[in-house]
Amino acid sequence: MDFALTEEHRMVQQMVRDFAEKEVAPVIKDYDRAQEMAPFVLPRMGELGILGICIPVRYGGQGMDYISLGLACEELEAVDTTLRVIMSVHMGLNSMALFQWGTEEQKQRFLVPQALGKKIACFGLTEPGAGSDVAALQSTARRQGDEYVINGEKMWISLATKAHHCLWVARTNPEARDPHDGLSAFLLELDRPGVTCGDIHGKLGVRAGSTGWISCQDVRLPAENRIGEEGEGFKIAMSCLDNGRYTVAAGATGLIRACLEASVHYANERQAFGRPIGRFQLIQQKISTMVQSYDAARLMYLRAGWMKNQGLRNTRETSLAKWFATDASFEAASEAVQVHGAYGYSDEYDVERYLRNSKGAVIYEGTSEIHQLMQAAYALGYRKDVPLRCELPPYQEDLWQSA
Ligand SMILES: Cc1cc2nc3c(=O)[nH]c(=O)nc-3n(C[C@H](O)[C@H](O)[C@H](O)COP(=O)(O)OP(=O)(O)OC[C@H]3O[C@@H](n4cnc5c(N)ncnc54)[C@H](O)[C@@H]3O)c2cc1C
Repeated sequence: MDFALTEEHRMVQQMVRDFAEKEVAPVIKDYDRAQEMAPFVLPRMGELGILGICIPVRYGGQGMDYISLGLACEELEAVDTTLRVIMSVHMGLNSMALFQWGTEEQKQRFLVPQALGKKIACFGLTEPGAGSDVAALQSTARRQGDEYVINGEKMWISLATKAHHCLWVARTNPEARDPHDGLSAFLLELDRPGVTCGDIHGKLGVRAGSTGWISCQDVRLPAENRIGEEGEGFKIAMSCLDNGRYTVAAGATGLIRACLEASVHYANERQAFGRPIGRFQLIQQKISTMVQSYDAARLMYLRAGWMKNQGLRNTRETSLAKWFATDASFEAASEAVQVHGAYGYSDEYDVERYLRNSKGAVIYEGTSEIHQLMQAAYALGYRKDVPLRCELPPYQEDLWQSA
């Protein structure tokens, strides 16, 4: 087993770390307080190639592997969760699905501009009345000749007001015996007539990010905008989550690291009872748990990334990595606030933002409860993965790097 990162991995890590630490960290508190996304973030991530990191060069990307994507997400969320959320939706939930399921024509139309960062992408699954229970979604797509007519509303959509494209899941067959089989997926341009969107305000966390709603009223979409076959929408959405959850796991690992570094720094500086608080065993216990969580979370996401590189199905391993890392990052952030005492309770320090940001990730891309159900179902033999019609392509360096 080789745990070493390659020279390319280290270069990606350093480039993303430089961007996040030098360009975003100095201003993140201002944007978090203002509840706005820094306007330079998306164009700059596009310019640096981060928005197309693991997409082959021939589709406008950087041709790096899936581990590079994980490493980038870890570095981004070590500075702010909102940066990693961009990767989760633009790359994990949308561009990778195009790469996996899209036709050549769809890749040229949608994936190439997305990988170049010229168009931003989001993912529309959740609705006001349906979150974990995906098959209960109400949005419809009615076939009329060569078009579909889309109606419905999506809620809690990251980048809703920043994106140009949305992967939209709707019901095409209300009569399907199993409601999962009645769903289809579409590539929806958000400037089509009948599409409206807005931001959700008053969020606990990811305040320097964009989370909103999208509504479709009689939106006409050419049939060639359907991705996959009719009735494949649920399978496509779940495969999107295999990729999105990987980015969430890697990002949450970065958040644990940020909590650890902040806590170590503070514990060495802050004096109580005549010594640095790091000398107290109860503080040491919090720090050692963060060390343990960081290493375990990192190994779990790297395993999932390695499996993606090999073209191995990784739904179970990715779910486990996401569940573990997000629960552990919430715990680490809570303990980091505790280590900082009253100062941790103020936005003078970053840890209060880490705590607010960490909560979202135990809710989106499968709540912790859903991941527990999945893991139990695998263990008990109630759940088995069947091969998909289109699998995520394994990483092939020569092919991915060639123009
Ligand atoms: C910041 C943020 C960004 C988001 N971005 C996106 C996005 O870009 N695109 C998108 O489509 N969605 C997005 N979401 C939505 C997110 O995926 C959903 O919130 C999530 O799937 C949970 O759905 P829900 O909120 O409707 O909760 P519900 O499904 O109503 O669940 C409520 C509670 O019941 C529990 N529960 C539900 N079913 C079961 C069960 N069978 N057994 C045990 N417990 C259960 C849940 O675990 C949870 O604790 C985002 C959410 C947030 C907070």
